[in-house]
Amino acid sequence: MKIQAIETGHFLWRETDEVTYVEPAVLSDHPELCCAFTTRHAGRSGRALNLSFDLGVRADVLANRQKLLHALGLGHTSLVTVRQVHGKHVCIVDAQALRRGLTGVSADALITTLPEVPLGVLAADCLPIVLYSLQPRVLALVHAGRLGTYHRIVSAVLDIMYSRFAVQSQHVFAILGPGIGACCYRLDERAVAPFRDRFSDWEEFFLPQGEGYWTMSLIRANEAQLCAAGVPAAHVHTAHICTVCHGEHFYSHRAEGRETGRGMGVAVLLSSVVPHDRSTSREF
Ligand SMILES: [Zn+2]
Repeated sequence: MKIQAIETGHFLWRETDEVTYVEPAVLSDHPELCCAFTTRHAGRSGRALNLSFDLGVRADVLANRQKLLHALGLGHTSLVTVRQVHGKHVCIVDAQALRRGLTGVSADALITTLPEVPLGVLAADCLPIVLYSLQPRVLALVHAGRLGTYHRIVSAVLDIMYSRFAVQSQHVFAILGPGIGACCYRLDERAVAPFRDRFSDWEEFFLPQGEGYWTMSLIRANEAQLCAAGVPAAHVHTAHICTVCHGEHFYSHRAEGRETGRGMGVAVLLSSVVPHDRSTSREF
């Protein structure tokens, strides 16, 4: 099945020898940022690109993570990830946190102002969301599944970007990566009821399917949080790539069960606006 975002050029399909990922086209306007959403393919090698330590042999996952960084021209850096728990905790990745180490930290969003510090969130249906401002330079990466969305984690991250880092809403850009689409995200009353109690606009992102079932649009729910926080609609770049419909290319928890692999959304502020050797990794 063709991926519309790739067909339209809105997102670009990148394949190296060992990593295949999609990249938002908006990056051509923002060379200060590097951002990628991995697929399940380890490039032309034909292998799988699981990036979760919980679901594979540690040495293999470590090697896959290194290959990813290398493919992005970030081989000299270390990937920052935390234990994702579908909660609302936001982890500030500053020099002190890096010195202390992030092992054991549970969070579903990461924020940094540091260049050359790649942030990563794992996903297999949940929505990876990149938020950034280039004046001042602040980057956040969010793991927004149903529960993170319920906890309004995108709103929480934007609050911190505004209050702690003096970012103005009109300078924020958002990139919503591949995730389960409303086409495939069917939920029953138990899942919907908490949203009905907490979100006055819940009917904007839940569509009734009859007999006590709804479909949920994680994209619409999170775009609503961006809009409510003043992020300009023209700054929101959404892949609209459903990980279930495109299961041949992306891991899907719902389609394959909890033992499936995990892909990753990764983003980094670059210290130089001329990306070092990224061009060498972009042959097709
Ligand atoms: Zn779908």
